[in-house]
Amino acid sequence: MFAMIDLRSDTTTQPSEGMRRRMAGAPVGDDVFGDDPTVNSLQERVANLAGKDAALLLPSGTQSNLVALLSHCQRGEEYLVGQDYHTYLYEAGGAAVFGSIQPQPIPVSADGTLDLELVQSLIKPDDPHFALSKLLVLENTHNGKVLGLDYMAQASALAQRHGLSLHLDGARIFNAATELGVELKEIVGDVDSVSICFSKGLGAPVGSLLCGSDEFIAAAKRWRKMAGGGLRQAGVLAAAIDYALDHHVDRLKSDHANAKRIAEAVSGLDAVTLLSNQTNMVFIELADEDTGAQFGQFLAERGIKALGGKRMRLVAHLGISEQDTDAVIASLQEYFTP
Ligand SMILES: *Cc1c(COP(=O)(O)O)cnc(C)c1O
Repeated sequence: MFAMIDLRSDTTTQPSEGMRRRMAGAPVGDDVFGDDPTVNSLQERVANLAGKDAALLLPSGTQSNLVALLSHCQRGEEYLVGQDYHTYLYEAGGAAVFGSIQPQPIPVSADGTLDLELVQSLIKPDDPHFALSKLLVLENTHNGKVLGLDYMAQASALAQRHGLSLHLDGARIFNAATELGVELKEIVGDVDSVSICFSKGLGAPVGSLLCGSDEFIAAAKRWRKMAGGGLRQAGVLAAAIDYALDHHVDRLKSDHANAKRIAEAVSGLDAVTLLSNQTNMVFIELADEDTGAQFGQFLAERGIKALGGKRMRLVAHLGISEQDTDAVIASLQEYFTP
């Protein structure tokens, strides 16, 4: 059933009428032959926005990150990564399975960053006992939290000092750019590659773009083919992403405002703890699992869907209006005000 107010994820958006029209009218060709004009112009557009040589359209963020890892690391090499980051925890071990690439997981700090001293201490010396440390992977935003420009620069400097490449899982990088009030290329200027999801808050049905140097993207194109991600008339998907860039980037700030209003309402309630709120995400903690289940049921009866039990994640996106936000706040207050 279609929930009226779906706070589970920013992946639950529906393509708008305008987006569907743009898709229907898109000129297309066989993209495996490089013949799809809509894909070609989108890749050029996104590469320019990211300040990189080239970009490649992939079906999902998971495949985009996998292809990035495979392009950066050979068999027996290692990537250093946050142990709660998507590229370690939520991609089914793909880099290990398909690439024989060893992860070096690192605890993620409360602000979503990796402690760079800890990262440095875990980079392996060139010694036959060890896998070869090759790549550092960051995630921005992580659980909605923004990694700032200074941190990105410091991480990049560390990677360079140790001969590592730097990949950014920027699934929600436009949320970070919106929050920081900067252009995309300012945040990703120091990374070697960045993967951007358009099927999250930007509201396209499918698609991620991986950006990097010409040489990197040429390697990624071969890995994408191997992973089964070479698509034919992919312009219908590229058109949706192009539309999202025209219409859905500037509006991200209203998602952030809606999330902030929910967080502020939670702060006024004794029975609920606000764990974090940045960009479009709110994490809350309830007394116990039972309370979570009962509150989830209470929300469901009001047409509101949310993920979790004791800990709950509430995500604002383009399917959540200001009035929807009012309804969520009213439900929180009704349930938790003694
Ligand atoms: C959603 C997400 C991805 C990619 O997920 P797909 O569902 O495969 O597109 C990658 N990294 C992060 C942080 C994400 O939230």
